Amino acid sequence: MLDCIIVGSGLAGISAALTLQANGKTFELFGSSELSSKIYRAEKIHNYPGLSDISGEAFCNALKAQLAEAKISINTQKVAGVYALKDKFTVMTQEGNTFEGKTVILALGVETIKPIQGETEFLGRGVSYCATCDGFLYKGKTIAVVCTSKALEHEIAHLAGFAEKVYLIPMYKGESFQAPNVEKIMKMPVKIDGERKANKLVFAAPPSENIPQELPVDGVFMLKESISPAALVAGLETKDGHVVVDRGMNTNLKGCFAAGDCTGRPYQYTKAAGEGNVAAYSVTAYCAANKE
Ligand SMILES: Cc1cc2nc3c(=O)[nH]c(=O)nc-3n(C[C@H](O)[C@H](O)[C@H](O)COP(=O)(O)OP(=O)(O)OC[C@H]3O[C@@H](n4cnc5c(N)ncnc54)[C@H](O)[C@@H]3O)c2cc1C
Repeated sequence: MLDCIIVGSGLAGISAALTLQANGKTFELFGSSELSSKIYRAEKIHNYPGLSDISGEAFCNALKAQLAEAKISINTQKVAGVYALKDKFTVMTQEGNTFEGKTVILALGVETIKPIQGETEFLGRGVSYCATCDGFLYKGKTIAVVCTSKALEHEIAHLAGFAEKVYLIPMYKGESFQAPNVEKIMKMPVKIDGERKANKLVFAAPPSENIPQELPVDGVFMLKESISPAALVAGLETKDGHVVVDRGMNTNLKGCFAAGDCTGRPYQYTKAAGEGNVAAYSVTAYCAANKE
């Protein structure tokens, strides 16, 4: 079993991975081959100690080189669920694979797009975050897919392979995914509604009209780069969408630590790197104290 599973390859996850490596711990680092869009999208970074006025892209390349030098690779499978068992954690990916670790570090960042009304309420009842886990449930059905990033378009393709009709609501600029059974809708979704199960997506009315427009569907997929920590880890204590931690980055779940933007403001690289480092030391101490 691995000593630790790190979810997220931004500054917090990378810092945790480098420290765990130095401490001789085994781990799997989940995230993106591009590390984090919040690193490479930054035009200029002025406040990272030792690197004056570096571009996000150059910073990203320096981090990639450091990871390669340390022989740390990134597992690009998306984590779909983290389950706390008695003395270990099982992590499931959207691709259907499972990994086991004595500890977990959540370094997920924050999703800047807030959940719409009804999204959390209907999660698992007609609302899903995971195309590969739940797509088959909508074979021959009509679904709405709200997609926040072009990088997630392969998930739309997966859904279009099952559903008879896909209404795609792209929340990003530029060309979006096309297929004969995919219809693009350029409106702002504001609410998911239904009874026992979600059965409609409601859009904001244009300024000239007062009546919201509704789209009847069998299910709604919300495809996001990062989902809320509470939706990912059952039983995790959060406040205002952030994971509650102490100074050792311990969460309320024994052996589960969190670092970076997901623990709260300020959203900064140095805070993320510092917290990732502290979380890694807490994992090291936890493993020493809980040896079989
Ligand atoms: C445009 C821009 C400019 C910025 N400029 C500055 C600046 O100049 N100075 C500064 O200090 N801060 C700046 N910031 C803030 C900074 O980017 C964040 O504070 C920092 O990136 C947080 O690091 P993190 O590791 O916590 O999260 P992130 O960098 O957001 O990384 C989160 C990682 O988790 C991964 N992930 C999420 N969910 C899953 C999952 N389910 N499975 C697998 N992986 C997952 C994501 O793919 C990503 O790799 C800027 C932010 C933006 C957007």
